[in-house]
Amino acid sequence: TGNTIEELPGVGPATAEKLRDAGYSDLMAIAVESPKVLAELVEIGESTATKIIASAKQMADVGGFETGDIILERRKGINRLSSGSKAFDELMGGGLESQSIIEFFGEFGSGKTQICFQLAVNATRPVEEGGLNGDVFIIDTENTFRPERIVQMAVALDLDPEEVLKKIHVARAFNSHHQMLLVEKANELAHEMNVKLLIVDSLTAHFRAEYVGRGSLAERQQNLNKHMHDLLRFADLHNAVIAVTNQVSSKPDAFFGDPTRPIGGHIVGHAATYRLYLRKSKGGKRIARLIDSPNLPEAEAVITVSEEGVRD
Ligand code: ADP
Ligand code: MG
Repeated sequence: TGNTIEELPGVGPATAEKLRDAGYSDLMAIAVESPKVLAELVEIGESTATKIIASAKQMADVGGFETGDIILERRKGINRLSSGSKAFDELMGGGLESQSIIEFFGEFGSGKTQICFQLAVNATRPVEEGGLNGDVFIIDTENTFRPERIVQMAVALDLDPEEVLKKIHVARAFNSHHQMLLVEKANELAHEMNVKLLIVDSLTAHFRAEYVGRGSLAERQQNLNKHMHDLLRFADLHNAVIAVTNQVSSKPDAFFGDPTRPIGGHIVGHAATYRLYLRKSKGGKRIARLIDSPNLPEAEAVITVSEEGVRD
């Protein structure tokens, strides 16, 4: 729908701006919010918030039910991206699926970023070579993007490194809010480009650093939830693969005590279509364990990270 936030009854330019600043970029985001949270974040009364949400529900294209055959038809358009490792691709049912979010979580140094680099290189390759013949967006939150590493991996595949680098578009995210805005920006840009892979490395680092203490946990989870849904929408709209990385909590805290549990708890877990736990093994080997999938069994694959990149 072409309706904008300004068209909501009772919402003037000032409130519209406050809504945008609070991260509500369209009617749908408002429609699915709770009055309490909206009132708090936008600093309006709860009854006003209730009215705004009700109007947004009417005006937003909330969508509806689809029959299975239509969903099957759309799923026929799913592309599969190779990881560089046959074993890993098999674990994923033949490569990483588009229209889905794949989450890699693991300790520092477990290979999350290396896998992202390899996926970025592979996505630029033709479909026959396991690629997506597309452009790549990387939202880099930890300043770990290294073009030199992309060059190494491209050369190992006999690709022209410069051509590959030209298809990989990198944006640094300076905080979690910026990170969320970049997904919107990516959405706009994707209409002019053939973006088939969007990487967020790391998904959770800013959120974890910014929202500390019990009091801010609810807000953190709310924003993470919105972020995940924005990503899923990107995946659907552009038939893209979304790869995100996540750390495990290194120090036990009140809410996520298990030191091998990924940050973001259930919110990230439920929104991710596939969850993979990475851990270091002997040599350059890494073990990837598929934890949560709508259609595949829990299983493991061993991959190698070397100078050439990700292989069996
Ligand atoms: P994280 O999970 O923290 O993102 P990384 O993906 O950055 O971890 O993995 C870092 C590891 O990747 C290094 O410890 C090293 O084992 C491996 N690695 C990085 N660059 C190279 C390279 N050029 N050749 C071989 N291995 C590399
Ligand atoms: Mg990393």
